[in-house]
Amino acid sequence: MLSAFKYRLYPKPEQEKRLNRSLLSLCNLYNDLKAEEMRRYREEKKSTSKTTFRALALDARKHNAQLQEIHSQVVQNVGDRIHRSFRNFFEGRARIPKWKKPHRYNSLTYPQSGFRLNPERGLLLSGLGYVRIFVHRPLLGKVKRLTIKREGDGEWHAIFITEREVPAKRPIAEISANRIRGADVGLEKFVALDDSTSIEYPKFLGLSETKIARIQHHFSRKHKGSKRRLELGRELARLHLHVRRQREDFQNKLVHQVFMKNDVLVLEKLNVAGMLRNHSLAKSISDASWGNFARKAIFKAELLGKHTIFVDPWGTTQFCHNCLQWVPKDLAEREHKCPRCGIEIQRDVNSALLIKRLGIQRSPAPDRGSSPAEQGPLPSLREWVSPSSEARSLSLQG
Ligand SMILES: [Zn+2]
Repeated sequence: MLSAFKYRLYPKPEQEKRLNRSLLSLCNLYNDLKAEEMRRYREEKKSTSKTTFRALALDARKHNAQLQEIHSQVVQNVGDRIHRSFRNFFEGRARIPKWKKPHRYNSLTYPQSGFRLNPERGLLLSGLGYVRIFVHRPLLGKVKRLTIKREGDGEWHAIFITEREVPAKRPIAEISANRIRGADVGLEKFVALDDSTSIEYPKFLGLSETKIARIQHHFSRKHKGSKRRLELGRELARLHLHVRRQREDFQNKLVHQVFMKNDVLVLEKLNVAGMLRNHSLAKSISDASWGNFARKAIFKAELLGKHTIFVDPWGTTQFCHNCLQWVPKDLAEREHKCPRCGIEIQRDVNSALLIKRLGIQRSPAPDRGSSPAEQGPLPSLREWVSPSSEARSLSLQG
């Protein structure tokens, strides 16, 4: 399986100048190749193969001093990129490739060679020398390619794509219950787990998000094209990037932490797209970041040979995890007190326990994988409690 390792790069000023110049040359080459493809298609009614695109790119390099400064495979990779864009277009997956604007052409790729990572000296890039790199986590697997990326705020990153062996999964039925965690999504806490531990949503994230909302508000009230609006727009982009990085970092650590101690993580399947409407800002953000978290959990489970499984969220806040009694409560109530079996616990822990119980009862066969799309119908409380049992418990209470 392929995984990506992203590290911050610190090029010296002259290296940065060189990288910017390379991106500009490659952007021009991209547009030249696009023009060529459009002409061919108009005149000859046929599309160009990947091999031809590569040859065209290398041919352009022969006659262009600026492209000659760049490693040949990097230049050749532009051929692959334009080929991919056109193939997506011809096969109906994308619109016709756009002309690339220089400030939006932000990455270059070394497919196989032209670079070497040396822990002491940095990342050696052909024609550029050693660039300082911060390797904050070990690079694992066999490197397939390297992309150098210029971010919106001017930071540089190196992204290694590596291939790794995927460990075999143990069937869920063989995993002991104390290595299985149910997790409840929350507004107050990011995650509550069934073992009564919980992970708070870091304060700094909330602060930056409030700040973004405030600037967004000002931004939308300024005249289009005004200088102030432009400034606010830049500030917004910078903050969004900042928050995204913080959130990514937080979630990666969280998923890692969970799978260090456990083998199965059971989550509610939330319809994130549908939930983004009609909600408070806080709720939308929480839902969106939950979606990201779920994706990370799926990915990490694959990587470690563990399981992330999903259950239907229906009723998970309203029923007792122990006796399945219907215990309705509004959002403000933090406790779950069951009138039937007498259990008293935090409401989110009750939900997490219920989610875990659902996950264990009807977990998908391991060979079906843990991608939610591949699963059959999700395990659901609807199958355990019928609507009439709600009515019954109501009348019992009444
Ligand atoms: Zn109960």
